[in-house]
Amino acid sequence: MPARAQVPARLSHIAPAVVQSEIRAMSVACDAAGGVNLAQGICDTPVPAPVEQGAIEAIRAGLNIYTRLDGIAALREAIAAKLQQHNGITADPDKEVLVTNGATGALYTTLLALLNPGDEVIFFEPFYGYHVSTVLSLRMVAQVVPLTAPDWKLDSDALRAAVSERTRAIIINTPSNPSGKVFSRAELEAVAAVAQEHDLYVIVDEIYEYFVYDGAEHVSMATLPGMRERTITISGLSKTFSVTGWRIGYLTAPADLVPAIGYFHDLVYICPPSPAQYGALAGLTQLAKTSFYDDLRADHQRKRDLLCDALRTACFQAPKPAGAYYIFADASHIPGATAAERARTLLRDTGVAAVAGSAFFREGRGETMLRFCFGKRDEDLERACEALRSNP
Ligand code: PLP
Repeated sequence: MPARAQVPARLSHIAPAVVQSEIRAMSVACDAAGGVNLAQGICDTPVPAPVEQGAIEAIRAGLNIYTRLDGIAALREAIAAKLQQHNGITADPDKEVLVTNGATGALYTTLLALLNPGDEVIFFEPFYGYHVSTVLSLRMVAQVVPLTAPDWKLDSDALRAAVSERTRAIIINTPSNPSGKVFSRAELEAVAAVAQEHDLYVIVDEIYEYFVYDGAEHVSMATLPGMRERTITISGLSKTFSVTGWRIGYLTAPADLVPAIGYFHDLVYICPPSPAQYGALAGLTQLAKTSFYDDLRADHQRKRDLLCDALRTACFQAPKPAGAYYIFADASHIPGATAAERARTLLRDTGVAAVAGSAFFREGRGETMLRFCFGKRDEDLERACEALRSNP
């Protein structure tokens, strides 16, 4: 075979800085070790029957072609009904709801539509790495405001100090990945005051909105006075219906913003997968009047308690999170100079994979922390708990 000419790779300015996410790296290491993966936030619990059925019937009925760019009308109506009942947000399904390729696609296209390269976006730390990486990939600037450990409380003075004349938006994730923090109404009001003072958008990722424990209240920013017109509320069905691979999310935003976001969503994705939209529709409509969401919450609270107890027995400092499905634990006692090393030591000694806490902080921080996911099947979670308990 003739030798191929050597063409040096010419990458974009930012591509060389891209590294594999610690979450994926740990999943690969876990597979190689045959361990239990509590690293990736993939809920592998069963898909609710109506959701599965809805998608299968759609495929069989030939509903496999592109849909309208903003999603099928019946699904937008079901989302608007859910927003009204669960969140207290009134949204016009024709003008203020966009079905998206996951919450991830919603954030990406929101940023494309509303912000410019060089604009600054504020995040709270610890943060979900995809949020920050998405902003950086669009050549925007991330301004990080640390939350105060151990409760990850908001320091509104620190937030105010982070705002500059280039700041255009604040991104919030509540309930939060990785900390499980649920922003209180008072904290959201403090963020709202800053957003109104400086005329900022607030983009809220509420994908874990149904995962709240011990009576914690999920408050939607868009319901606070004066916030509907500057808030983009993002959520999705990946977590609630255990369909992370289906890529169905949605957003609601003021009617004058949705066409621009929809334009970019069309450009990048054309539309969310059609059969999955029908599955989501069946789930939203058929499960609304059942105990599904209460059962989901109770089941995850039980799993949280199980994993928390096992981690504490294994000498971790593991606070019980008020929301989401992660335990963000201090692992200072596990040998290793960095969190990534501690995660590998734990995997080697117990067969349990967790994510290095450093993945959720700026460089040099989070090095004693590990994140464990409890949105798992019972048998896997029990196996992990057993392994942790027997290796204190
Ligand atoms: N937002 C947060 C905070 C997440 O933790 C995740 C997944 O882990 C996502 C979004 C991804 O959501 P989707 O599958 O809807 O893109």
